[in-house]
Amino acid sequence: MPAAITPSVLETVGNTPLLRLRHASEITGCEILAKAEFLNPGQSVKDRAALGIIRDAEKRGLLQPGGTIVEGTAGNTGIGLALVAKALGYHAVIVIPQTQSEEKKQALRLHGARLLEVPAVPYRNPNNYIKVSGRLAERLAAEEPSGAIWANQFDNTANRNAHIETTGPEIWRQTDGKLDGFICAVGTGGTLAGCGMALKERDSSIKIGLADPDGAALYNYYANGELKSSGSSVTEGIGQGRITANLEGAPVDMPFNIPDSEAMAVLFDLVEKEGLCLGGSSGINVAGAIRMARELGPGHRIVTILCDHGARYATKLFNPDFLRAKNLPVPAWLSQPPAIDI
Ligand code: PMP
Repeated sequence: MPAAITPSVLETVGNTPLLRLRHASEITGCEILAKAEFLNPGQSVKDRAALGIIRDAEKRGLLQPGGTIVEGTAGNTGIGLALVAKALGYHAVIVIPQTQSEEKKQALRLHGARLLEVPAVPYRNPNNYIKVSGRLAERLAAEEPSGAIWANQFDNTANRNAHIETTGPEIWRQTDGKLDGFICAVGTGGTLAGCGMALKERDSSIKIGLADPDGAALYNYYANGELKSSGSSVTEGIGQGRITANLEGAPVDMPFNIPDSEAMAVLFDLVEKEGLCLGGSSGINVAGAIRMARELGPGHRIVTILCDHGARYATKLFNPDFLRAKNLPVPAWLSQPPAIDI
């Protein structure tokens, strides 16, 4: 039974259900479980990092009442920051690459964030959205009467601490400490490193896996020590090319490279076989859990993350024209909705 009264939206962040994925479990002979992070109030796992970063800045005396939080984000962190900011009397200014889904930009606006859209350029370019957000934070800190801070989710370890303190212990409690593996993809690395560290600390035999999309450099880094990437992915919010501060010391035992074709098939299976409509990174994560299950063999229990809701990608991943343009198969139910006679 939930408490009769919840003081604010902030208390609804985290404590998500751990779902058993029936189909993925059946085809592997393992038990594949997934944290339903799309049930957070901002509909993604990043609400946890947003709350952790803002609470940490408050503790360190960096945020003044009415202050502004600036961040460069692919979307979900911005939505989390915007809702946490508003609930606590702050403001959010978000720098986002133009390539991110319209739905995410809309969600940011609907949560009261001010948006600055910038061209998508690589991290080494000084006009990369992350670097623009750092410079903008410096400027607003000087200009705004109540000051401004840079959330800096990639290199601010308050992000990973949120997972060390909440997501990891939740998984441990929900499984009664009985799990063999944990796997997920990396955007900032907060989820993977935070959950990985929290779980390893409790049982060092738990295997930590990385599910890396094409275009990211981490599979090569953890498999053979080289930060090297090739190709690209339709997934959003993941695909890292460097070792962020959040990733430093991440205990990765089993890295996997997951191409979009594999992730999208799993993503559509989640709709058809589990009743779960999710974003592309959840497809990568569950595909990674299936690979890990196959490598560990039947009888193991593996946990992964369902990062965000599919509604955020209606015009992209769930749009037949988009899929065809990317040479990805279109599931029958998406291209030809069954005719119903009335
Ligand atoms: N999936 C989605 C949809 C995301 O937006 C993000 C964060 N950018 C991630 C996964 C990865 O999470 P993390 O930043 O903790 O690595």
